[in-house]
Amino acid sequence: MKKSVDRPMKIPCLFLDRDGIINEDLGYVYDFMNFKVHESILKVIGLAQKEGWKICVLTNQSGVARGYYLESHISRLHQEFDHFLLCHGLKKIDGYFYSVDLDGPMRKPEPGMLQEALEKFSEIDPCASIMVGDKVSDVLKDIRLSYFLVRGHYDLGPVENSPNYSEQKITICNSLEEFYFSFSNAVRSSV
Ligand SMILES: [Mg+2]
Repeated sequence: MKKSVDRPMKIPCLFLDRDGIINEDLGYVYDFMNFKVHESILKVIGLAQKEGWKICVLTNQSGVARGYYLESHISRLHQEFDHFLLCHGLKKIDGYFYSVDLDGPMRKPEPGMLQEALEKFSEIDPCASIMVGDKVSDVLKDIRLSYFLVRGHYDLGPVENSPNYSEQKITICNSLEEFYFSFSNAVRSSV
């Protein structure tokens, strides 16, 4: 039988919130000195990379609009984190997307940064992708993704108590470690 023309393969992406997920949320972190990386996230990143997932960071950085730091601090911090990953035997993050605004279409939960990522990496399949965050606003206004919220500093009640909670693709985890186990199960069941 003649093989049909292959379409370019779509791949899933792990979208990560930054502060509170990758690093401890110490409030408006802008230098690597105060960037305390969570150990569990290295396991998550390692597994995602091993399984061929893309990894993108989507982070609200209104500290710029508030005058606490400059955009150049953000890019330098991300370069340093990439270097840190390489030193730990991992690959760099595929894409960093940040919003410097106090509101507007780029700031989560608006889907602007996600759209930017999907335009940059057309191979990403949003329906197979996951967004992980620690705030209700990390659940983007895009129903194609699955969402995992990790309990940390923020009240997740508005999601848990929402009447639509069970219909949305949202899972609440008590820790990053718990997310790692859910993620490894999801990865295993998708092969
Ligand atoms: Mg966060």
